[in-house]
Amino acid sequence: MSSLSDNYFKVKEQIAEACRKAGRKPDSVVLIAVSKTHPVSAIEELFQLGHRDFGENRIKELCDKKATLNHWDIQWHLIGQLQTNKVKFLEPAFIVHSLDRLSLVEKLAQRFSNVRCLIEVNCSGEASKSGVAVEQFWDLVDKIAQKPQIQVLGLMTLAEHTNDEKRIRGAFATLRGLSEKLAGQKIFPTYANWLSMGMSHDFPWAIAEGATHVRIGTAIFGERLLPNTKAAENPT
Ligand SMILES: *Cc1c(COP(=O)(O)O)cnc(C)c1O
Repeated sequence: MSSLSDNYFKVKEQIAEACRKAGRKPDSVVLIAVSKTHPVSAIEELFQLGHRDFGENRIKELCDKKATLNHWDIQWHLIGQLQTNKVKFLEPAFIVHSLDRLSLVEKLAQRFSNVRCLIEVNCSGEASKSGVAVEQFWDLVDKIAQKPQIQVLGLMTLAEHTNDEKRIRGAFATLRGLSEKLAGQKIFPTYANWLSMGMSHDFPWAIAEGATHVRIGTAIFGERLLPNTKAAENPT
């Protein structure tokens, strides 16, 4: 077996283990393989193993890869910041995990009659983080609710990059709390209680806190050689 398939099955097993520990069904968590910066051949290899959910953080890279793999039955997830001037590249089949501001809500609603999104929340309160601030969350929800074109499936967050279990779990618990409240209010008819949280270094904690979707790159594909994330950090 290649190290890629080794890594993949190891991560799958760790997810199942975290589910067991949390008293959850092993198949209650969807693994999104974050393939950003990695070649299409790596995606193909996982696809051959039966994997179908892939995440990219830049729309351009996602579109390029999708064009190459057009005949493959892949569910693509856009997990990184989306600039409004790049909404034109988005396809309705993609699931956007990073809906975090009004300008993007309006742009998406203009362009699409149906677009599936998660609202990204900045649960750690770090100034540098993307995502709507917890204090502004309900305002944004009200605005999105006026645009039936936007089908909200759930919420997404990125935890702090730290080893402090309490802080990380606290952020995940905040997201779960918002999601439960939102579900209770029945604001979005499409709401599916998705909680997209957990990355390579913190996914077992995310699963313990109720993640339904984990976004894992490094633990599967190895370290990224190319810088990739910075370009998307100044949305307009
Ligand atoms: C890159 C990225 C991930 C995956 O991070 P790893 O630490 O490589 O697992 C998850 N979510 C988002 C939004 C990312 O940009």
